[in-house]
Amino acid sequence: MKNLNIRASKLLFVRSVVIVCLLVAVMPVMLVQAAPNVRYYYESRGDVVWEAPSKEKQVALTFDDGPDPTDTPRILDLLKKYDAKATFFVMGRKAEEHPDILRRAAAEGHELANHTFTHRMLDSSFTAEQIRKEIVDTQETIFAATGVRARLFRPPGGLFNPRMIAVGKEEGLQMVLWSWHQDTHDWSRPGVNRIVRKVLGNVRGGDIILLHDYVHGPTQTVEALSRILPSLQNEGYRFVTVSELLYHSSREVRK
Ligand SMILES: [Zn+2]
Repeated sequence: MKNLNIRASKLLFVRSVVIVCLLVAVMPVMLVQAAPNVRYYYESRGDVVWEAPSKEKQVALTFDDGPDPTDTPRILDLLKKYDAKATFFVMGRKAEEHPDILRRAAAEGHELANHTFTHRMLDSSFTAEQIRKEIVDTQETIFAATGVRARLFRPPGGLFNPRMIAVGKEEGLQMVLWSWHQDTHDWSRPGVNRIVRKVLGNVRGGDIILLHDYVHGPTQTVEALSRILPSLQNEGYRFVTVSELLYHSSREVRK
């Protein structure tokens, strides 16, 4: 009887050790799963858009940090050649200097969007009023040049916080970032081939592709674009503005 008791308590001990080991092994996974999924939170509320997955073969090319007197017109020429529409997230300060480029982009069917006035990284130290000034000054500049009220806003560096989201909403703007698998890093000039491969190798319907119509130093974006446009077109892709992409996506969801 005593032997049986010892055996039973040994068994209990071994079992407890096994359970504790299993818990220790599984705990990190549980914690990760329990951690709030930041993207899902903002995406499901419609606060931030990263992409608009679609069965249709259409993507949104986006160009940040312009307008630039050299690169933006070259990009507009290429877009026209392939009957492609794109979205330009403009800096208000530059837009003020080059309203003619904005007018051309708008006249050719492209979307103009807000990328702040000065392109300062709007971290949590910025007050709501500072953020609002960046946004409103840019809205007014775009409107003065083209008569267009921009509907989309992309913060510099993709850095956002709840205060910025609230201000954006108050100003009637939808925050739009980009597909994580379509971050070309063209601003760092990684080589034309790498930019092209990033886009073509990862493309899916509804992607929002991040490019820049201004970079420090000679651009690689224009040459990359001259290869991306015909390749995707041959694959059957259409190039639409972000607003059109979002409109199509919302109709697909309703079907
Ligand atoms: Zn930028």
